[in-house]
Amino acid sequence: MFYLFHDLDPLLQASGHRYLVPRLSRAELEGLLGKFGQDSQKIEDSVLIGCSNQQEAWFALDLGLKSASSVRASLPRAEMEAELGGSFVKLRQAVFQLNSADSSLLFTAQAPPLCLQAQALLRWHDGHQFCSRSGQPTQKNMAGSKRLCPANKIIYYPQMAPVVITLVSDGARCLLARQSAFPKGLYSALAGFCDIGESVEDAVQREVAEEVGLEVEDIQYSASQHWPFPNSSLMIACHATVKPGHTEIQVNLKELEAAAWFGLDEVTAALRRKGSFAQQQGEASPLLLPPKLAIAHHMIKKWVEKQSGSPLTA
Ligand SMILES: [Zn+2]
Repeated sequence: MFYLFHDLDPLLQASGHRYLVPRLSRAELEGLLGKFGQDSQKIEDSVLIGCSNQQEAWFALDLGLKSASSVRASLPRAEMEAELGGSFVKLRQAVFQLNSADSSLLFTAQAPPLCLQAQALLRWHDGHQFCSRSGQPTQKNMAGSKRLCPANKIIYYPQMAPVVITLVSDGARCLLARQSAFPKGLYSALAGFCDIGESVEDAVQREVAEEVGLEVEDIQYSASQHWPFPNSSLMIACHATVKPGHTEIQVNLKELEAAAWFGLDEVTAALRRKGSFAQQQGEASPLLLPPKLAIAHHMIKKWVEKQSGSPLTA
């Protein structure tokens, strides 16, 4: 089965205010390509992203990207959308538009974040079409798990960049921050890339100090998640506590637009709020939290449950 993308935007079908992720059989895909004057060669550009319990292989194929090593042209977006009865939607937009109850739909009956993983792999291939040593075109292996430079035999493997994401607490409140690029009203935990040579603990302490001028201790690993934005990250979620008595925030305005301490009641109310992101933005709400697809959502929920001593009921 094939999941389709166009310039890294997944094909989604709106169903009411929900999105479904359609997939095509090989025969359907060949039929589609034929209608646009392409032969089945284009299918060789696809990458393997997983398989079902019944050993049915899942592939992702980008119909918009043009590969440097092939003469195959990109296919027209609007005409393909009309033919497929769906739209190629910006993935970040899809992630934020889905309301919490619907977010599982992006992954319906599929291994967890298949759409996110597929986009990350397609983007990696698009960005590694040339060998960084010889400058020659690289070749994808059949599955798409690596690329080879035929000139000097260097093999390139897809990589993720480690990012620490930290929810800082002072014992009663948690610290949330926003970047100017975030959707209006959205606050999240602090995040930053690990530098070469750093441990996770080093990176947490440095990022918190750089972004809000606080010293933290008692760093606890919580969970991890692949995240395709901005460029395939491995998000490593940690909880940390600020050193007692040192809670005054100094926001680094080069990295953040704002940062503040939030109390349990306010954060709990924001987590419980119903409706899609866009609907919530319309309300006179001071605080929006990341969607369920994002690990930050789960860290904040975990903190709320620990503070209140009971599971959060939606
Ligand atoms: Zn090379």
